Amino acid sequence: MAVNLLDFDLEGLAAFCAGLGEKRFRAVQLYRWIHQKGQADFEQMSDLAKSLRGKLAGLAGVSAPPLISEHISADGTVKWLFDVGDGNAVETVYIPEADRGTLCVSSQAGCAVGCRFCSTGHQGFSRNLRSSEIIGQLWFAEHRLRQTLKLPEGQRAIDNVVMMGMGEPLQNYDALLPALRTMLDDHAYGLSRRRVTVSTSGVLPMIDRLRVDCPVALAVSLHAGEDGLRDSLVPLNRKYPIAELMAACLRYLETAPRDFITLEYCMLDGVNDSPEQAAALVQLVRRHRLSCKFNLIPFNPFPASGLLRSPADRVQAFARVLQEAGIVTTVRKTRGDDIDAACGQLAGEVQDRTNARERLARQRVVIPIGSAAPAPAAGSLR
Ligand code: SAH
Ligand code: SF4
Repeated sequence: MAVNLLDFDLEGLAAFCAGLGEKRFRAVQLYRWIHQKGQADFEQMSDLAKSLRGKLAGLAGVSAPPLISEHISADGTVKWLFDVGDGNAVETVYIPEADRGTLCVSSQAGCAVGCRFCSTGHQGFSRNLRSSEIIGQLWFAEHRLRQTLKLPEGQRAIDNVVMMGMGEPLQNYDALLPALRTMLDDHAYGLSRRRVTVSTSGVLPMIDRLRVDCPVALAVSLHAGEDGLRDSLVPLNRKYPIAELMAACLRYLETAPRDFITLEYCMLDGVNDSPEQAAALVQLVRRHRLSCKFNLIPFNPFPASGLLRSPADRVQAFARVLQEAGIVTTVRKTRGDDIDAACGQLAGEVQDRTNARERLARQRVVIPIGSAAPAPAAGSLR
C-alpha cells in the first residue's frame, strides 16, 4: 500500500520528502495543504512544484479511515463511525458548546484495560490505531464540519481535542505521539497544549514519557480513592497503584501546560458514590499535595456492566464534599444521549452488523456508507 501521509508529523514528513530529494519547505507546504486545507489531491496543491506532485502521485496518498455512518443528535453532537478493517470500527464524537467545539478521539479498536464500567473495555482489545487513523479522525471531522457548518474561510470548527474515545491512548504511545504533535503544530491545527487532553487510566511509565515528549493537558481516570476498590474497577491499578499514580501526576505537573491534573470519576450507584468516599478523596489529594480538579461523570449504563448510575442528588452531595474542601469539581453534562455518543458508550458496534443496523434505524439521522459527502477533497488510498 502507498504511504499514507497522515501517518507523519512535520518531522516525519520532512524526512519522507528528504528521501525524495525535496527541501524541508516543500514538506511544510504539503503539510499545510493536507491539514489546514483538508486537501488530499496532490494535483490541487497549486503552489507545490509539479515535479513533487508527480513523485507523490505514484508513492503516497492522504486517507482517513472510511466513514461508515454519521449521526447528528438533537443537541448538535455528531458521532462518526469509522471502519478500521477486519470488522472493527471506532467512534469519534464532536461536541459543540457555546464557546468552543470539542472532538473526542479514539486511540484503539477496543481496549485491553477492561474497566468494569466501560463498554469499550467489555469489548476487549482488537488493535492499536495507526497515527493516520488517530489524526485522520480530526482531519476528517474538522474539514467535514467546516463544510457542513458553512464556516467562513480561516475559522476552525474544533479547538479542543480530548483523547477520551475508545481505547487507552497511553497503551498506543508510538502512534499517539505524531498525532498529538500534528494537533499542536502551527502548520497544521495549531491547537493550544492546554486544549489537547490525554485521558489515561494510569499507564505510569507513559505518563512520564509524555511529560518529556509532548506535555499536553492530562486527565487521569481515578474512580476510587483506595486500592481495593480501584483494583476491581480499573484492573491496571494492580500494576500501578494509587500512591504511584499520584506521584506520577505530581511529576507531570512540572511540565504540564496547566497547573492542575483533571481527575475523572465515574459515579456508580452504591459502589463509589458515598460522602465518606468523597471525604477519602479529599484526604488522598491533600496527602499528596496534588493540585487537581475533579470531573464527576454520571455513569452511562450498558446492560453487560451490571452497574447503575448514581442518582443526581447523590452526585451533587458527593460534589459538595469536594467543593467544600476547596477542590474545583464539575459534573459532566451528558451529551448526545439520543445517539449513544456519551462517555463509555462507544463500542464501535460493527462486529455485530445486525444489531448495528437495528440501532442505526432507530437513530435520528443516518447517512449510510456511500451517500455521505466526504470532506472537501477528502481522498482515499483504497
Ligand atoms: N482510556 C482512557 C480514555 C478513554 S475513556 C481512560 O480511561 O481515561 C474516557 C473516560 O470515559 C474515562 O474517564 C472513563 O473512565 C470514562 N468512562 C468509561 N466508561 C464510562 C461509562 N460507562 N460511563 C461514564 N464514563 C465512562
Ligand atoms: Fe479502556 Fe478507558 Fe474504557 Fe478503561 S475506561 S476500558 S482504560 S477505554
